[in-house]
Amino acid sequence: MSAPHPVVLLGAGPGDPELLTIKAVKALRRATVVLLDDLAGEGVLRYIRCSTRVLRVGKRGGCASTPQAFIDRLMIGECRRGERVVRVKGGDPFVFGRGGEELDALRAAGIPVEVISGITAGIAAPAAAGIPVTDRRHAPGVAFVTGHLREGGVEPDWAALAASGLTLVIYMGVSRCDELSGRLLAAGLPADTPAAAVQNGCTPAMRLCLTTLGDLGESLRREAIGSPAILVVGDVVRVSGLWAQPSNRLSMDTTCSATSLSFR
Ligand code: SAH
Repeated sequence: MSAPHPVVLLGAGPGDPELLTIKAVKALRRATVVLLDDLAGEGVLRYIRCSTRVLRVGKRGGCASTPQAFIDRLMIGECRRGERVVRVKGGDPFVFGRGGEELDALRAAGIPVEVISGITAGIAAPAAAGIPVTDRRHAPGVAFVTGHLREGGVEPDWAALAASGLTLVIYMGVSRCDELSGRLLAAGLPADTPAAAVQNGCTPAMRLCLTTLGDLGESLRREAIGSPAILVVGDVVRVSGLWAQPSNRLSMDTTCSATSLSFR
């Protein structure tokens, strides 16, 4: 039997199909089976052939989530049948996307893997709102952290993060925003530290809430910001052209262009 085609772990970027890399588009064109995450969005499907089988293996959205072991078995089985399998994940496959676990499972099964990086939401969603996560005038760097722990996972050291001076980019943090902001405030970050939430960044449904750490939970509830959203905490939020506006909030229907905000 000939060697199997490598399974491609592909990052689809934050939701705008135009933010796919050329390498990703080429891999999608070659695919015979695509396993699609719901965060990756349907936009990527415009690049596949009509004969390509699409298996939706989402993990959110109120539906029962597809167990990881099932996804792993599916990739392995399809690959062994000789299919060109592309596993499409939102953002970058190795940034909070369980790509590492999938890589392990495929390797353990003796299957070759190709990784195609994508643009992570933690950079692109703030950027679409005019927030440069590592503007050195405001912060010496950035920390990407999860607001939601895996079962048995260890809570990030919020006190150390608060003391670090780094911009905090928090994935999966909306549902725990009160607890997260509480921990950062308790660790000494001032209540007036700028904070932002970007929901559905880089998509036509993008919504932005600019607020402060002290008001984070209240603001997100008032603006009905839900998942998927990136939270940004730190002075870089001030750089957004919208920070100085009197009504520190926006939604796509009022001021945004197709997939990012435009500034005057
Ligand atoms: N691998 C992905 C992250 C997966 S974890 C990446 O690199 O972007 C899922 C979390 O990513 C969501 O809870 C949310 O915090 C964030 N996210 C993904 N897409 C997003 C988007 N378009 N806008 C805002 N946040 C997004």
